[in-house]
Amino acid sequence: MSNGLDIKDDLFNPPNQENPPESEPERADTETAKCPSCGANLVYSPEIHGLKCPYCGTEEKLAEDNFCEEQDFEKLFTDRAGEWAEETKVFRCTNCGATTVISRSELSKECAFCGTSNIVEREDMSGMRPDAVLPFLLTKENAGERLKAWAKKKIFAPSSFKKSVKPEKIYGNYSPSFTFDSDTVSPYVGRLGKYYYTTRMVNGKTVRTRHIRYYNISGTHRARFDDVLVQAANNIPQKTLDKIQPFDTNNSQEYSADYLHGFSATQYDRDGKECWKVAQSIMYENVKKQILAGYSYDVVGYLDVRMNCHNITYKYVLLPLYVGHYKFKQKLYNFFVNGRNGKVAGKSPLSPIRVGFVVLIALGILAGIIYWFISQNGGI
Ligand SMILES: [Zn+2]
Ligand SMILES: [Zn+2]
Repeated sequence: MSNGLDIKDDLFNPPNQENPPESEPERADTETAKCPSCGANLVYSPEIHGLKCPYCGTEEKLAEDNFCEEQDFEKLFTDRAGEWAEETKVFRCTNCGATTVISRSELSKECAFCGTSNIVEREDMSGMRPDAVLPFLLTKENAGERLKAWAKKKIFAPSSFKKSVKPEKIYGNYSPSFTFDSDTVSPYVGRLGKYYYTTRMVNGKTVRTRHIRYYNISGTHRARFDDVLVQAANNIPQKTLDKIQPFDTNNSQEYSADYLHGFSATQYDRDGKECWKVAQSIMYENVKKQILAGYSYDVVGYLDVRMNCHNITYKYVLLPLYVGHYKFKQKLYNFFVNGRNGKVAGKSPLSPIRVGFVVLIALGILAGIIYWFISQNGGI
């Protein structure tokens, strides 16, 4: 929800038509990115912001100013968005259920969410082609260090969990999200109340009573929302994503399959139209808060807001996440690292022994306090 609060007057990405990318030889997205020296598959490297050959080290930089334009809202309701199927394959993990998209040129590999290779290719569910990608800034090793530091602080987690957090066991996976921009014009009427107090004497004592004085409000509120972010996949809880925010979506680059080489993406469960509904409710709640912030009140009698959205644009953007997993007592735990700022969130397993130990110590301290209290009061 924190994103919805970001209201900026005019924070737009530079339009591409005025700033065309340098005349690098264009490679079709459907083509495999092959190393010009040795022919191996190139992979995206956050360190150089480009493609790198894992075998001979040949580098191919990508433009860094190919900012993604906001997309015309109408496009969401037409077929103009284009299918992603041509350049990708979709796999479903039979172990944990995650649906993953990888570049067509790559061989199938382990599931990013559970690490098993029980994945089967699906013909359907290709979905809409992304408009934008927020490239990874951190390497797998950087993310591994952040994860280790995070795991160390989990005092209730079993020690085997802390030892298991290794860079080779985490995967770079893009999380599908939609961002929306909109101007809002919201006529409103409402009734707010302010407390006031009266005092009277009852049996020689002063009794203070609280009352509410109501007053009516009305007006028209205008606000612009920039990049309200809505998470589109089910296997990453919105709460978890909120914990590792922000994602600097204004730096999103125009989508290219190059960013997918060596990484995977999660398939969205909610499409743009569904996410727009979520974005509207985020904006609506924010508009309400902003209206109320303009008044002095203690209680809200009612507030009726009719929000109208204009100049709506959107982006279907892939967000960079490193995903870690751990299986403990038949349960799968996933944790996530923001591939831009390194923030970590997720669930860690609880070790019954460690929890029991801490509970015993706490009980011991409590028993001590009770004993002290009783002896001080002459009970013993
Ligand atoms: Zn090479
Ligand atoms: Zn899986």
